[in-house]
Parts: sequence; structure tokens; C-alpha cells
Amino acid sequence: MNDTGRRPLVAGNWKMNKTNAEAGDHCARLRHILHEGPHRAEVAVCPPSTSIETAAAALAGSDIWVAAQSVHEAAKGAHTGEISASMIVAAGAVGTIVGHSERRAAGETDAQVAARVRAALDGGLRVILCVGESLEQREAGETESWLTGQLRSALAQVAPEEVGRLAIAYEPIWAIGTGRTASPETAQEACAHVRAVAGERLDPAAVLVLYGGSVTPDNAAELMAQPDVDGALVGGASLDAEGFAEIVRAAG
Ligand code: PEP
Repeated sequence: MNDTGRRPLVAGNWKMNKTNAEAGDHCARLRHILHEGPHRAEVAVCPPSTSIETAAAALAGSDIWVAAQSVHEAAKGAHTGEISASMIVAAGAVGTIVGHSERRAAGETDAQVAARVRAALDGGLRVILCVGESLEQREAGETESWLTGQLRSALAQVAPEEVGRLAIAYEPIWAIGTGRTASPETAQEACAHVRAVAGERLDPAAVLVLYGGSVTPDNAAELMAQPDVDGALVGGASLDAEGFAEIVRAAG
């Protein structure tokens, strides 16, 4: 746990996992476990869109919030497979991930990420914006310039007063789903850079910066103890309610 005064956020990105029934069971279990002991972190789950409504119903009245995994920039129309901010809100979620590397790899551009951040905020949603470099970029010494470019583009239309509805997840692509976690020092260095660049538009002391990439109950505490790491975006390890709750507690 760092002692910056920023409330940590631990969010679970389920990706394409869990049926509706499984989502309901998982949320009920997570709610029960987290209710049993104190935790300082804010907690969010990001189910597939088919289960947003079920997750929101199972978590209603708790302090665990639900976010979508992506949002389209258009309000409605001919965008097969996509969902809009108003659909997400109507289903009971209060936030959305934007710009996850798995979506960027499937063709989502920086311009779309920026438009989606704006559409989500305009629709009243909180945003977990993902940025991160590939292994090739890191080895070529391009990590900071790459992150700077992604952030300047994605935040160009975000107003300073919206900082409270934004979290930025630093997710090195080489650490996602690979079991190869960034060291606490590497995570700290990159998250400090993310905060500094976000600080060009937003209050750097207010912006939440998360680390994501093979976070587990075993490494979460050390990562989140870093001064610029305000929590975690957790993929694989969020699918197990007990393990995810351990990560939440590791934030303090
Ligand atoms: C993610 O996809 O956001 C992620 C961090 O995945 P994992 O924890 O499985 O590496």
C-alpha cells in the first residue's frame, strides 16, 4: 500500500470468460468474501457485455462497481459487435475500460481510443484507460516516448475537472497474460512517467495510475506499495474470487 492519500483501485478484467450464470455466482461470492474483512481499495469488475446486467444486479448495494471492457465512440448505429456508453449505463455499469492492448492489437487506433475516452466520459462513465509498450519497444529504449504518445493522444480531449472519473492502467504488453510481471522498480518507473505525462493536462496528484500485467496474490502487495502505483488492473487472476479478494486486500 502506498500512502499518497489516493484511494487505490483494483479492477478485474475478465476478458472473454464466464457465462452469465457464472458471472452471477462469481459476483455473489466476491461480495461475500470482501464483506468479511476490511479493505481500503475501491473494487471493480469488468465482465463481458453479456454479463454486465447480471453482475450489476449481484453487486447492487455493495461498494463493488461494474465496468464494461470497451465502448464504441458512436451513440448508436451500424457497428456490429460494439456497445455504446448509453447501453453500458442502462445495463448497470458505471465505467468502462478503453484501449486495452488486446483491442489495440485487433485494430483500435489511438484516434479511436481518444474518441472512446471522450464518448465514455460524455456518457457519464468512469474510464480505465490502458497504455503500454511491446517488448520490442522496451528493448529499443522507446518505452517512455511510446507511452507519452499514447497518453497525449488519449487525453487530448479530457478536461482537468474530469480527473476523478479517470484511471490510467500502465500495462506492458509483454507482461499481459504471460506470467512475466514487471518488477516493482520497472512498474514504478513507468507509472511515474504516466503520471508526469497525464500531469500535462490533469492534476498529477489526483490521477489514479494502475499497474496491469500478470498481477497475482503473490506479487500484488509489492507492486502496489510503489509510490506511483495506485492499484491494479488484473486479468487472469481476477477470475478466481478468493485470489482476486487477496489482491484487493494487498492494496491495504
Ligand atoms: C489485462 O489483460 O488487463 C491483464 C493485466 O491480464 P493478466 O493479469 O492476465 O496479465
